[in-house]
Amino acid sequence: AKQLGIGEVQLFSSSMNIETLKSFQIENDLRNAIENNEFYLEYQPIIDVYTQKAVGAEALIRWKHPVWGKISPGEFIPIAENSPIIQDISEFVIKEVYRQTAEWMKEGVKFNHISFNLSPKNFLKNNLFNIIKTNVEKYNIPQDVMKIEITEGLLLRETNVVRDQIEKLKAIGVNIALDDYGVGYSSINYLKQYPIDTLKIDKSFIRHIEEESVDSVVVQSIIDLAKGLGRKVVAEGVENRVQFDMLKKMRCDFIQGYLFGKPVSENKMKEIFNLEKVH
Ligand code: C2E
Ligand code: CA
Ligand code: CA
Ligand code: CA
Repeated sequence: AKQLGIGEVQLFSSSMNIETLKSFQIENDLRNAIENNEFYLEYQPIIDVYTQKAVGAEALIRWKHPVWGKISPGEFIPIAENSPIIQDISEFVIKEVYRQTAEWMKEGVKFNHISFNLSPKNFLKNNLFNIIKTNVEKYNIPQDVMKIEITEGLLLRETNVVRDQIEKLKAIGVNIALDDYGVGYSSINYLKQYPIDTLKIDKSFIRHIEEESVDSVVVQSIIDLAKGLGRKVVAEGVENRVQFDMLKKMRCDFIQGYLFGKPVSENKMKEIFNLEKVH
């Protein structure tokens, strides 16, 4: 192995320390964030390609840190996932998304689906089903309204606990969407083995769909696969008209992305649901 001089060792370890310190600090602050009401949810509309109306929304967590301001879930969720805190965060998300959905329904807001994200770690704990069932019953949410977004990495490490909970959730009318589809393994076997309702095509395939013929071939084949199997398909990260028109021609059913709306507050989302057309 290469011998390092003293200076190099110090440089290496001090840069390590900054990263470690930062995630240490985030992990530490995450512990108080729930109690201090620093988390809230935003919603991003999911659009029916043919009617161009918002038919659903995805709940996305937000953290307003008292000192640093908004911290992206892309930054703090991976840190939370390495600690038991992810269980508390997901419990917050579940409670809040069910409460909000029930409120919208009571107010007569029109929508078909609300989806929310869970971490694979949540499925490894066998109390997840009970937490969700409690909220389904408390808020009296009809079947097929709520949808959990999971990444297929979860299905890779298939355990009986994971399978059991997915099947029990399906049985009480909670659907499953495979998130970030196309990156990773994307085994067709999962679609056979699990009651998966929806495929969400990862935004990395949409970003260059206009100029990359490989991406458009991949996207078309995911759409055909999903539809052939009677699953729904959502394209993520749609930012412009050209992408939208291509996806429409490819017979994609639903799209999500900045073209139709960024994630917004619950009140804004309520207005969007009640609009005749979003765009
Ligand atoms: P994701 O589940 O793939 O969520 C989609 C992300 O893409 C969101 O970022 C959304 O704001 C962003 N996005 C939507 N439309 C566009 C677009 O047109 N262009 C681009 N460039 N981006 C778009 P966000 O909210 O920062 O979330 C990042 C990730 O953090 C999520 O990726 C998800 O993996 C995780 N996450 C967010 N909320 C939760 C949560 O409540 N629980 C868990 N476990 N993870 C969450
Ligand atoms: Ca998602
Ligand atoms: Ca995604
Ligand atoms: Ca993702």
